[in-house]
Parts: sequence; C-alpha cells; structure tokens
Amino acid sequence: MKRKLRMGMVGGGPGAFIGEVHRKAARLDGKIDIVAGAFDINPEKSRQMGRELCISPERTYNDYKEMIRKEKALGEDAIDFVAVTTPNNWHFPIAKDFLEAGFNVMCEKPMTMTLAEARKLRDIVKKTGKIFGLMHNYTGYPMVKLARDMVRQGDIGKIYKIVVQYPQGWLAKPIEREGQQQAAWRTDPKQSGAAGCIGDIGTHAANLAEYISGLKITEICADITSFIPGRPLDDDGNCLLHFDKGAKGLLHASQVSIGEENNLAIWIYGDKRSLEWHQEHPNYLYVKEIDAPVQIWKRGNGYVGKKSPAAARCTRIPSGHPEAFLEAFANNYLNFADSLLCRVEGRKIPADYLDFPGADEGVRGLAFIETVVKSSKARKWLKMPQA
Ligand code: NAD
Repeated sequence: MKRKLRMGMVGGGPGAFIGEVHRKAARLDGKIDIVAGAFDINPEKSRQMGRELCISPERTYNDYKEMIRKEKALGEDAIDFVAVTTPNNWHFPIAKDFLEAGFNVMCEKPMTMTLAEARKLRDIVKKTGKIFGLMHNYTGYPMVKLARDMVRQGDIGKIYKIVVQYPQGWLAKPIEREGQQQAAWRTDPKQSGAAGCIGDIGTHAANLAEYISGLKITEICADITSFIPGRPLDDDGNCLLHFDKGAKGLLHASQVSIGEENNLAIWIYGDKRSLEWHQEHPNYLYVKEIDAPVQIWKRGNGYVGKKSPAAARCTRIPSGHPEAFLEAFANNYLNFADSLLCRVEGRKIPADYLDFPGADEGVRGLAFIETVVKSSKARKWLKMPQA
C-alpha cells in the first residue's frame, strides 16, 4: 500500500445511526482516513460533526454539492471515494453526482427510491467505470462466505428450499410520532420509498438468500401489512418465493415483532445437506445431514479457511474471540478498499477483492421491493424483473 485512501462522507451527522458504523468499519484495517464530509442536512450540525471528527473546517461542507465542487478542485488531493449514509431519498442524486464528477462511491441500501432510478444508477456506474459498493453488510460475515462457498462447491447439492427471516420489534409502537429520528424517515414514503420494513430489512434478507445460494428470486407472492394504524408504509411482510433452478422459499421481515432485535437468520435445504446461520450468533454455521449429528463450523479455524479462503480473508482474530457486526461491515470496506487501492496503484483487481455487493445487487433490491409491493396489492404471484 503506497498511501491510505481518502474517504468523504455524506450523512452521519450528530445522532445518526449508520454513518458512525461506516466510520468505525472503514478505519478498522488502517487503509482509510476520513478527511471530508457534508455530514448533516443541517449545515451547522455538519460543522459540529466535522469538529468532533477533527476534520479540517475547509473540508467540512454545508452540503454535498459544495463538497463535490470543492473536492474536485483539490485535484490529486481530493477524496478517493464518498460514503453515502443519508436516508434513502438522497442516495440516487448524491451517488449519481459524485460518480459523474469522477468519484468512487460506497452507498447505503436500498440503492435508490425506484427501480427506474436503480437501473439509471447502474448505467452510470458502468459508463463512468468507477468502483461502486452497496452496503449489504451481512454478506461480509466470514460464516456467510463459508456458506456461500459450501453451496458453490456442491456440498449442499441441489437446493430445494430457502427460509430467510429478519424480524425486529422496535417499531411496534408509533415512535415516529414522538420524533424518533430513525423511525420518522423510515415510515415516510417520501424519504423511505415504496416500502417500509420490506425496503429497510426485507432487502437484506433477499440479498442474503441470493448471495449464499447463488440463485435468483424469480417470482414472489407477498402479503405486507401496516399494523400500526395510520402508518403509511408496511411494518411487516411475508413472502413466498420462487428461485431459479426450481428452488422455493419463504421470506419474512417485521419491525413489529416485539422482543426481536436483529434476528436475521437463514436456512438452506439441499438434497445432500442443509445450512443454518443466525446473525445474532454469527461465528457459527450449522451443517446438517441425514442420520448424522449436526456439525458446528466455528469462525477462525483452519478448516474454515481451507474450505473458504474468502472467509479466512475476512477473519481478523483467532477462534473463540467473537467477531460480529462491525467486523462484517469492515469486511465489505476491506474488499472495496483493496479494489480501490489496486486502481489507485495501477494494478489489476484480483477477483476475490471484488466480493462485495454493487449496483447489480442494488437493482435487484429495488426489483424485489417493487414486486413485493405490487404482489401484495394485487394479492397474487408476480414475476420479479431480472435486469
Ligand atoms: P439516520 O436518520 O440515523 O441518519 C441520517 C443522517 O443523514 C442524518 O445525520 C441526516 O442529517 C443526514 N442527512 C440527511 N439528508 C442529508 C443530505 N442531503 N446531506 C447530508 N446529510 C444528510 O439514518 P440511518 O439509520 O443512519 O440510515 C441511513 C441510511 O443507512 C438509510 O439509507 C438506511 O437504509 C441505511 N442503513 C443501513 C443499515 C445496514 O445495516 N446496512 C443499517 C441502518 C441504516
């Protein structure tokens, strides 16, 4: 590494949730410095955040447009990439403008507000040739990569069925009416998009199912609900899924399931073996076969690395010392940063560095959201757009 990468951020102001997670995760491996930002919709709060992060006042901006203009003017000293950590309605305009100004982008999910915008953004990524990451952070867990590699290597056999769930309970009361920041925009269609819970966490579940199985969702029969009276977007959703190659599945996501925190979990049932993984216990992967005891594969052991070099690459500490959310988040940054460093240093990017979600997954996320919403409204099976 000849130098560290320079990161800018849009969003992640005082009291914001995911911006701070990005900052911690991006810095975990010492390859990235945060040097600039337009951190908040309120310029005064953006400056406050800049001061807290010890970012120079000249590079703490009032808004993202000023940031693009002034960073561009810095030429070789400008940021290498920007992380977009605002609510959903801002992802498209901000990512588009940075890409077109020549910057690489790490963007939060869902990638855009509509499928049409997602397709446009994917075209812009292709046209500009810039590196674009989409923060489906659950793909960053080593045991998720191990599961994906077991499927790829044929250990599971033909996949019959996938069950994936993401229940939470934090929106079981209408806290958006008490001004809770994260609830307020998530339940507002103008800032969140066509779906609430399904867009916020259902897309993570759908992405995880496709990432591990290598299969694509082709058809959906969905039933989404807003249990809180007057809430304009769904806070719960249940979907039957058809995948390609004949696999079938179930996906449920909820933000009104009291007692559930981030209970993302997945079961993959094949004709040879089955897999089971829980985000709240992420260092273990359960492997099951007929007439044999359940195997528990544990993160950080040599046998995991032998099976899955991608899992080993994304493991920092020995087995038994738990790694979790921040490290998985950091793994997407690790692959993104190593890809970008190759670009900066004029080296070819090895395929294993490119193991992070991007614009194609962003398009699939929006196709998933729109198909779920339409299917639930029409009360019937619908095909999910594939491109
Ligand atoms: P938040 O409300 O906590 O923070 C949003 C921040 O963006 C605030 O500081 C706000 O002032 C700022 N902002 C809004 N518009 C802006 C603009 N135009 N310019 C600059 N700053 C602006 O929201 P959050 O919970 O952190 O979610 C942010 C995004 O991250 C959403 O898209 C959400 O879906 C995503 N998210 C992803 C994960 C994950 O696990 N990958 C988890 C949580 C949130």
